[in-house]
Amino acid sequence: MRRCLRFFVAIVALGFSVVGAEAQTPSSGLGLRISKIFGFDLAGRIQGAFRLTASGHDDLERVRFVIDGDTLGEVTAPPFSLSFDTTSYALGRHVLAAIGTTSSGRSLESPPVTVEFVSSDSAFGSMMQIIGPVLVIALGVSVLTIVVPLIGGGRVAHRPGEYGIAGGAVCPKCDLPFSRHFIAPSFLGYRLERCPHCGKWSLAARAKAQDLVAAEASLQAQADATPAPPNGEDSMRRMIDESRFEE
Ligand SMILES: [Zn+2]
Repeated sequence: MRRCLRFFVAIVALGFSVVGAEAQTPSSGLGLRISKIFGFDLAGRIQGAFRLTASGHDDLERVRFVIDGDTLGEVTAPPFSLSFDTTSYALGRHVLAAIGTTSSGRSLESPPVTVEFVSSDSAFGSMMQIIGPVLVIALGVSVLTIVVPLIGGGRVAHRPGEYGIAGGAVCPKCDLPFSRHFIAPSFLGYRLERCPHCGKWSLAARAKAQDLVAAEASLQAQADATPAPPNGEDSMRRMIDESRFEE
């Protein structure tokens, strides 16, 4: 789920990245680009780590980046980039700009870019408003893929208490339940069966439901009482294996 979330966040972030956070490069001036390093960026509302890059003039010698008129930092070599984090500043509207100086001493100023620094909670809220419905659908689909086979698909695995069409029997020798074989020799409703638990042969009648339930309980009790395989678990598994042939 967490991977899903990250995936959707990445999609949304890609889709809306740099929206409204880029100034046009004027014909004879300085361009300022704001790119996201990490965080939230939607329609001029930003939160996280960002990079300012000034460009548009080959003759640049240094660039001073400003926020609300105050110096954010100065860069004296290309690429004229500066990283900053919105959490270092007050929430709300800020005006970013770049002021460059060429080698001939000419001063160039980028058009100002107004952005709104938002809190991470607010950024998360905005993000969820967009991807929330998508997440809900994705969550619903993954829940359905788990639940539907359980309720609709029917027999995912053999459950104790289910026996083949020949029904279950309770061994008269050891009182444990097993599935009767469909192909076993039968006499007037009795089938010649070999008990998978004690190995003894008997003519097994189709057991009543409540007798099977009682026998299952004692089989389960036996399985619980013996941690190591020989009796309980093993015979239960054998019973399950045998019942498969009848379906
Ligand atoms: Zn038996």
